[in-house]
Amino acid sequence: MSQSKWDIDGANPPPDAETRRLLKPVICYPVEGLQQPDLAAYGAARAGAVKVNEILMPARDARCFRVSAGNYFRISSVQGPQVGDLNLWNGQDISERFYSGKSRALHGTHLTTGDRMWSGFPHLRPMATITADTLNWYGKDTFGGSVHDVIGTRCDPYTNNLLSGGQYHHCCHSNLTRALADETGMKLSEAEAHVHDVLNVFMCTGFTRDTGQYFMKASPVRPGDYIEFFAEIDLLGALSACPGGDCSSVHSSDEAACYPLLVEVFQPVNPPRGWSEPKLNGYDQTHGRG
Ligand SMILES: [Zn+2]
Repeated sequence: MSQSKWDIDGANPPPDAETRRLLKPVICYPVEGLQQPDLAAYGAARAGAVKVNEILMPARDARCFRVSAGNYFRISSVQGPQVGDLNLWNGQDISERFYSGKSRALHGTHLTTGDRMWSGFPHLRPMATITADTLNWYGKDTFGGSVHDVIGTRCDPYTNNLLSGGQYHHCCHSNLTRALADETGMKLSEAEAHVHDVLNVFMCTGFTRDTGQYFMKASPVRPGDYIEFFAEIDLLGALSACPGGDCSSVHSSDEAACYPLLVEVFQPVNPPRGWSEPKLNGYDQTHGRG
């Protein structure tokens, strides 16, 4: 039997170890208390929407895009299988940004239609709602893998340097940093501080059952596949076409075959029935000192 990190101190389990392990898990954040998105209303409004913009993310690079509240944006695979790292900010206030960890806690490790991208504290409100996902069929595979994760962070030159000692400049972290600097006029060092953990669009990932390690495998995405979002607030987005390509083998190098990703923005004639921009979170921020 192979050794794992849990064998280091694990030689003396308590007598009731198995009983403790067999206790049933409890869902941390039951989402029944959340207001559910009205997908039928989102779908009806989308039916008459017209394309107002499109931006092509070059392979191993990133670009920014803007989406007004009430519009839709679609990320599509073009030319070949490719994963993308997505950052979102409030288009009016860059301090409000996507909170991958809380989105994971609410919706699970992988997002699909009906799930939302939530902003961080103190805002904690939906920034975008996923309204369509052509890879929804994939579900969860026998390895525990699934698509569009909020468990990875983004490939970055610092971790690459730790593991390989190299200097690689087209990791998603650097791609997003350059794109945000170009869009806003910030210096690279300032822009870098706003880059955050991503939604890994089209990436197929999971945790190994034996060691709990983050794994990736070839994305099932094919040209023509897309994931589409409804912008709940004005958004500034940045998307990096990851140097891992379909992430079947390596990233943080120019070895993998990489392709562009397309972002298209659609404006509906009327907003979805009953929709209004989500309010800021209701907590009063006095933290017990009010
Ligand atoms: Zn990447």
